[in-house]
Amino acid sequence: MAESLSFFQKVNTDFDKAARFTDYPLGLLEQIKICNSSCHFTFPIKRDDGTIQTIHGWRAEHSHHNLPTKGGIRYSTLVNEDEIIALAALMTYKCAIVDVPFGGAKGGIQLDRNQYSESELERITRRYTYELIQKNYIGPGVDVPAPDFGTSETEMAWIFDTYITMAPDKLNAIACVTGKPIEQNGIHGRRGATGRGVVYGLEEACSIEEDMKSLGLTAGLHGKSVVVQGFGNVGYHAAKFLMESDARVTGIIEIDGAIYNPKGLDVEKVAEHRAETGSICGYPDAELIKNPNDGLELACDILVPAALENQLTAANASEVKAAIVAEAANGPTTPTADAILQERGIMVIPDTYLNAGGVTVSYFEWLRNLSHVQLGRLGKRFEDSTQHAMLHAVEKATGYQFSNEERQSIHGADEEDLVNSGLQDTMIRAYQELRETRMAHRSKNDDVDCRTAAFINAIHRIAQSYMQLGIFP
Ligand code: GLU
Repeated sequence: MAESLSFFQKVNTDFDKAARFTDYPLGLLEQIKICNSSCHFTFPIKRDDGTIQTIHGWRAEHSHHNLPTKGGIRYSTLVNEDEIIALAALMTYKCAIVDVPFGGAKGGIQLDRNQYSESELERITRRYTYELIQKNYIGPGVDVPAPDFGTSETEMAWIFDTYITMAPDKLNAIACVTGKPIEQNGIHGRRGATGRGVVYGLEEACSIEEDMKSLGLTAGLHGKSVVVQGFGNVGYHAAKFLMESDARVTGIIEIDGAIYNPKGLDVEKVAEHRAETGSICGYPDAELIKNPNDGLELACDILVPAALENQLTAANASEVKAAIVAEAANGPTTPTADAILQERGIMVIPDTYLNAGGVTVSYFEWLRNLSHVQLGRLGKRFEDSTQHAMLHAVEKATGYQFSNEERQSIHGADEEDLVNSGLQDTMIRAYQELRETRMAHRSKNDDVDCRTAAFINAIHRIAQSYMQLGIFP
C-alpha cells in the first residue's frame, strides 16, 4: 500500500513520522510541508531534422521561508511534476539539516539527453531559462539552479549566459546559478562536492565506535567493503574518495550491469574503461553481474545508492546484505523498504543529510559570486609567508632541515582547501546534531532512526525561521 504512494507523499510520510516528535501547531507543520509554488512550462523546439517537438519542463519552489530557493535541474525521462515537487521538498529539508540558508527548489526537463544533439540541448536549455525568467523562477535572490541528474557545468553556463543577457542587475547576475565552469565564476571543488560530502559524512558516522560495534563493524572507513550504485558524477566521486579514504570499493552498479571484485576495484581504471568502451561492463579485473538489480544484494559493509529514487523497495530490502545504507541519491529508499532495513538493524544514513555536500558548496559558490572575490585570495600569500617564516625559525632553533616535500606541503589555504574544509566542517557538525537528537530521544525510550532525527532537526530549524517572521506564536 505505502509502495503505491507518490514520491512527494513518500517524503511527507517521513516528515509526518518526525513531526510526531515535535509539538508545533499543526498549521505550522502543514505550512512547512506544503509546496509553496510550482510551474509547468511547455515550449516547442525545432529539431536538427526540421521537425517540431513540444518540450515539458518544471520548476518547483517548495519553501520560501529562506530566499533564494535552491536546487538542481535534472534532465531525465522520469521527470514529472510530482517528482520535481518531492525533490524540491527534499532540498528544503537538506538545506535546513546542514544549516545552509536557502529554501528548497528543483527543476527538470522530461527528456533523454542521449537523443538530442549538443545544439538541440543548448536551445532547449536557453529556452527553459527564458521561461524561468519570464515567470520569476530564477535570480540571485529569488531561485538559484544547479546541476543534477543529467546536467552539468555546460548547461549551467548556458543558463547563466541567457540570464545575464536579460538581467537588469548585471553586477550580481553571476550568482543566478551555481555549479558553473571555473572559467565562468564557478568554484573549485564543486564538481566533486556531493561525492566528497558523502565520504566526509560516512567518515564521521563510522568514527563512532559504539555505533559501529552495534552493527558488528570496527570504527573507521579503513578496509570496509563498499558497493556503489550509479557511476555518474555523485557515484564516481563518492567511489573515488572512498578509495582514497582506504575503503575497498568492491562493486559498482550501472544501468546495464554490475561489476564485482571482493579485493577492491580501481575506480580510476573503471572510469577509463567506461570512457573507452561506453560501459563499465567488460572491465577486465572484475566479475560481471548481468542483472544490475542483483548488485544491490551483494555482500558488503556499506551500500551507496547514488543513482535515482525508489531503488530500495519492499521487493528487495530484505535481500540487502550491507550493514550501512548510505544514501548518496535523493529518495533511493521507499518508506516500506526503510522500515524493513530498520527492522533488520541496518543503519540508513539519509539522503537529506548525506548528499548535502553539493548544495553546501553551491552556497560557497553563491557567496563567492556575491562578494566578487575568490575565496582565499586576500590571505593566501600572507599565510604562505608567515608559515615559511615559522619553518625557518624552527630550523634555526632545532638545527632540523625540512625536506622539499615537507616544505611544499605547508602553504596558505587556496580556494579548494577552504571549500573542502568548510564542507567537512558542515558535514561533521550536522552529523553530530543528528546524533544528539537520536540520543536525546533514545533516553526517553523513543527509537528515533537517523532519517527521523534529521527531519526533526530540519523541522526545528524551519519552524524557528517562521517564528522569527512573527507569523506563529
Ligand atoms: N542537485 C544537487 C542536490 O540535489 C545540488 C543542488 C544545488 O547545489 O543547489 O542536492
